[in-house]
Amino acid sequence: MSRYIDASCRKCRALNTKLFLKGARCSSNKCAIERGKLGPGQHGVDQKFRKDSDYELHLKEKQRLRFAYGLGERQFRSYFELANSQKAIPTGGKLVELLERRLDNVVYRMGIQPGRKSARQLVCHGNVLVNGHRVDIPSYQVKVGDVVSLTDTGKSMIGVQESVASKPATPGWLSFNPDKLEGSVLAIPTAEQIGVPINTRLVIEYYSK
Ligand code: SF4
Repeated sequence: MSRYIDASCRKCRALNTKLFLKGARCSSNKCAIERGKLGPGQHGVDQKFRKDSDYELHLKEKQRLRFAYGLGERQFRSYFELANSQKAIPTGGKLVELLERRLDNVVYRMGIQPGRKSARQLVCHGNVLVNGHRVDIPSYQVKVGDVVSLTDTGKSMIGVQESVASKPATPGWLSFNPDKLEGSVLAIPTAEQIGVPINTRLVIEYYSK
C-alpha cells in the first residue's frame, strides 16, 4: 500500500493548517505554522494574498483530511466509497468515523504515541494488542468495547512512556488508563471529535464531481 511520505511540515504549510504530523513538535513554538510560515517554498508566504479557486478549495479540504491520517490517495478514496455506500448515515460523518476507528489513530488518540506516524509504526512492529491479541494492521477498525493494550516490549519503550507522561487529552469516545497502558473504545466517534477543522461537505463534493 503506497503512502504519502513528503515532508510533514511542508504539507501543513501548503494547506495553511496544523495537521499535527510531527508529534510533540506540533504543540511547541517550533511548529512552522505557529512561526507564521505559510505556503511551501521560499515564496510560500506570498500565497496568503492569493485566492483559491473553487476547485482548489475542495481539493485542499480533501488533502487536509487525507494528510492528517497519513493515507495514500487510493486508500483514502476507498474510505470515501465505503462511506458513500452506506446510505443510512451522512457520508461525511461516516468517512470521519471510518478514519477515526483505524487502530493507528486510536493508539495516537489514547496518547500512547505523540503522532499517527509513530503510532502506525508501533502497530506495524506488532507491539499493539486488541482484546489480548496482537494486531499489526494499522487500518484495523476498532469497535465499541474493544480493549487496546501493549505488549511488554511496547510498554517498555521510552517513546511510549514519554508520550503517556505528557498526559495528552483523551477524546470522549475513548478511555485510557496510564498505569496499565490500556484503553477501551466507549463509543463510535463523531465528526466533531476529530480535532482538525475539516469541512467534510467539501470533501464529499470533491469526490462527487
Ligand atoms: Fe510541522 Fe506539526 Fe506544525 Fe504541521 S503542525 S507544521 S507537522 S510542527
